[in-house]
Amino acid sequence: MTSPRANPVFCAIDTPSLDLARSIAAQVAPHVGGLKLGLEFFNANGPGGVRQITALGLPLFLDLKLHDIPNTVAGGIRSATVLEPTFITIHSSGGRAMMRAAADAATEAADKHGVSRPHLLGVTVLTSLDGDDLTAVGQDPSVPDQVDRLAALAQESGLDGIICAPQEIRRLRKLCGPDFTLMVPGIRPAGSDAGDQKRVMTPADAMAEGADHLVIGRPINSAEDPARAARDIEYSLLQAHS
Ligand code: C5P
Repeated sequence: MTSPRANPVFCAIDTPSLDLARSIAAQVAPHVGGLKLGLEFFNANGPGGVRQITALGLPLFLDLKLHDIPNTVAGGIRSATVLEPTFITIHSSGGRAMMRAAADAATEAADKHGVSRPHLLGVTVLTSLDGDDLTAVGQDPSVPDQVDRLAALAQESGLDGIICAPQEIRRLRKLCGPDFTLMVPGIRPAGSDAGDQKRVMTPADAMAEGADHLVIGRPINSAEDPARAARDIEYSLLQAHS
């Protein structure tokens, strides 16, 4: 869904501090394609805080990972749609009815408020879980099989894409086709610290594998100079394209 020339990077602003979030967002804005705000920021600053960040004019990825009964998730999507996010996440393990209700709610709320419809992305298996964790919660112990199952269910249920690990891009692109959005975390520029991400890939490699968008947090927001870190990533992607 993104043209190859558009900047695919969403910078994760993972902080409860509105001042820090505003500062990082303003520094990186010229060098990223969008900003990601998650529960840490949202629970501390609410919709008012989100509006202060979106005032910069960049696309917003609202990573709320909703998971509840269909009626409640639909309500959550309706409330979030007025913030005009480009992307919102929900858990695909919430099931078909929940995802369909979310997709319908996004369309209705966007029409009602005259805003763009947010794209809904499914979380399949959290990258922090392994086969033993899946067994413990009574799911298929093969992580790739469970990811594929939930990705297919998400697509069938009207979601617009999924979050996936870099190593899953190629397989999921084949399974879900060219029009299903793949948003990919676990990205590290060459030579940077992986932190708690176990399986990482460089921005250029992940794009070459077939990602649509990259979520990058600490390599940018914890850098001494976030603007420079974001610009270096931007250049690495432009170079890979030339
Ligand atoms: O700092 P880092 O680049 O590892 O941050 C990645 C971002 O992507 C974080 O905001 C994290 O919450 C998010 N994320 C992830 N793995 C997922 C889904 C989201 O790392 N499976």
